[in-house]
Amino acid sequence: MAYIFLWERLQYHRTSVITKVNYYCILLDFDQHGGQDEEVFVSDAQLSLAQSSEELREKVVIAGPCALESIQQLPDIIQQFQAEGINIVRLPIWKPRTIPGWDGLGFAGLPYIFAATLPHGITPALEVLCEEHAQLIVECLKGYSDEATILVWIGARNQNHWLQSRIAQILAPKKNIFLMFKNQMWDDEKHWLGIYAHLLAAGFPQERLWTCHRGFSPGKMPNPQRYRNLPDFEMAMRMKRQMGIPMILETSHIGGTRENVHEVCRQAQDFEFDGYMVEVHLNPADALTDSLQQLSLEEFLRLTELIDASKYLKRAA
Ligand code: PEP
Ligand code: MN
Repeated sequence: MAYIFLWERLQYHRTSVITKVNYYCILLDFDQHGGQDEEVFVSDAQLSLAQSSEELREKVVIAGPCALESIQQLPDIIQQFQAEGINIVRLPIWKPRTIPGWDGLGFAGLPYIFAATLPHGITPALEVLCEEHAQLIVECLKGYSDEATILVWIGARNQNHWLQSRIAQILAPKKNIFLMFKNQMWDDEKHWLGIYAHLLAAGFPQERLWTCHRGFSPGKMPNPQRYRNLPDFEMAMRMKRQMGIPMILETSHIGGTRENVHEVCRQAQDFEFDGYMVEVHLNPADALTDSLQQLSLEEFLRLTELIDASKYLKRAA
């Protein structure tokens, strides 16, 4: 038992020690200053990091269902979303659930998703929960052009740094994979920065890292608008500055209802988010998960008009 453990540790360090070294100093500074001193924490990383957010001149629009519910839904989703210029389509097949329930189509959906998106210039976006998911993605990508991009994210509930690091290590060599991490469920700036530091330390290139604000569990906080999760836009902007990577606003899990999703987008207009992720279902009333917060495609398009994001949709001429 002990030998197996030791062997695993050695394997891990063999693959990650070089990239880790670069970030040890940042982490040490961070620990010494308890995360309070922004200047110290970002000093090394800031110069190169600051560019990536700036390079992203157009806002990113990620829209799609909470979960892909069947392979039969896929052609309609792709056809209708692409016609409206939505080129990054949310298509999760592995769903974390608060209480046990339907938790996604699973691996069977993956080859269909890639076949329906990658050759047609659509970037599929989906959550991974463990190493196996990351490995399956890399495996299924074989045979596709390296030009076709994929957005993979680590969700708010997945706060095991060992798993986060392993996912990052597995995905890092694929240059067409972007990795996004959401903030954790509880309100803690240091922890959010820690996820970022872990992913970098695991060797994931910072120019392919994005982060995402999905609000924090309200707990006993005042919540007059009855949001599902409370946003902290100021904190998100601080995180964007310190990490220097694109900051996406995930409006649906903050709002929790269709009306609130609109309200969240309105409030966020005063802040410099680099893009939005919105749950959009072709028939929200029938959705298997999160049906209250998913917008119809028409509602989503009206929302993009409202927040002046329709100019970022890439409709074919
Ligand atoms: C999701 O985006 O499907 C999800 C489960 O959200 P979160 O990780 O923010 O809870
Ligand atoms: Mn959802």
